[in-house]
Amino acid sequence: MEVTPLIDIEIISASNSKINSVDFENLTFGNVFTDHMLICDFKEGSWQKPVIQPYAPFTIDPSAKVFHYGQAIFEGMKAYKDEEDAVWLFRPEENFQRFNKSATRMAMPEVTESIFMGGLKKLLQIDQQWVKKGIGNTLYIRPFMIATGHGVIAAPSQEYRFMIILSPARSYYSGEVKVIVAEHFSRAANGGIGAAKAAGNYSAQFYPTKLANDKGFQQIIWTDDATHTKLEEAGTMNVFFRINDTLYTAPTSERILDGVTRKSVIELAQREQINIEVRPILVEELIAAAKNGSLKEIFGAGTAAVINPIVGFSYQENYFELPQLEHSMAIDIKEKLTNIQHKLAEDTFGWTVKV
Ligand SMILES: *Cc1c(COP(=O)(O)O)cnc(C)c1O
Repeated sequence: MEVTPLIDIEIISASNSKINSVDFENLTFGNVFTDHMLICDFKEGSWQKPVIQPYAPFTIDPSAKVFHYGQAIFEGMKAYKDEEDAVWLFRPEENFQRFNKSATRMAMPEVTESIFMGGLKKLLQIDQQWVKKGIGNTLYIRPFMIATGHGVIAAPSQEYRFMIILSPARSYYSGEVKVIVAEHFSRAANGGIGAAKAAGNYSAQFYPTKLANDKGFQQIIWTDDATHTKLEEAGTMNVFFRINDTLYTAPTSERILDGVTRKSVIELAQREQINIEVRPILVEELIAAAKNGSLKEIFGAGTAAVINPIVGFSYQENYFELPQLEHSMAIDIKEKLTNIQHKLAEDTFGWTVKV
């Protein structure tokens, strides 16, 4: 598959590249950005001509609705470089479609495929030397949209800015992850915006996550808001549980984000003939499995970390540690998935798209 080309775009090149000042071996996730960014404004009911220009701050009106009402959405995706120096994307169509679903939920205009995909392709071509070869290296892609229209009236903005910024990343290792199963706080509720990548979903998690951090836990396993009996997501990732040799993950819903990594793990597990069940998983099932020794693994799945193994969890002040396994499904699936992404294994699914 190839990415759709963009028809009309203005390009203002950076006069100097910052690339030689970057220590690619010691990157902190999401902290360094490439030389260029894409900007496209929405005005008077239509998208204007997109511009690729040097990465730099910009000004917007203090009354812009993004500051007051949080009308903002984003995506997270990655580019990879193969051994022949070609740049690849992983299931980018999924991110494009999800971006527009998020836009609709937040009363924002949809972005066209030629701006999103064509703009991304052009930007990646311009900054391609920022994508490094090798399994640990990726370029994290952050498309986002903010409401730039001015005026503090609580109504959808008339003007928006769509942007794409790029950040080189090393494979994301977050250390040992221990989680708390949520008994009070919620990430999302039916009828809410949990299925959208809307900015406010993430700021709403900061406080409960900080309380968990203070107790020595890195993340929260979110449960359903109404009963707190169903296990739904881990931090900003989808979550999988391995009980004996079966993997379980919750079905997507208004409360659970439809992750591309989750989807890919399910399809990969099916190809590998691993038993996988997509159904609601109860907290009490997890506790029972932890007590009788059938709970083998818990892991998060998302673009940034790909797969994030969890070493233990706490529920109602009881801490349960997961066994240390010689053969981890999480590690195995992560390796298979990253090999496909980096073009080191055959992509039998047609997931990878050449830039
Ligand atoms: C982005 C996100 C995920 C993971 O989605 P991917 O497409 O796999 O990156 C899971 N849960 C939440 C809440 C997210 O925002």
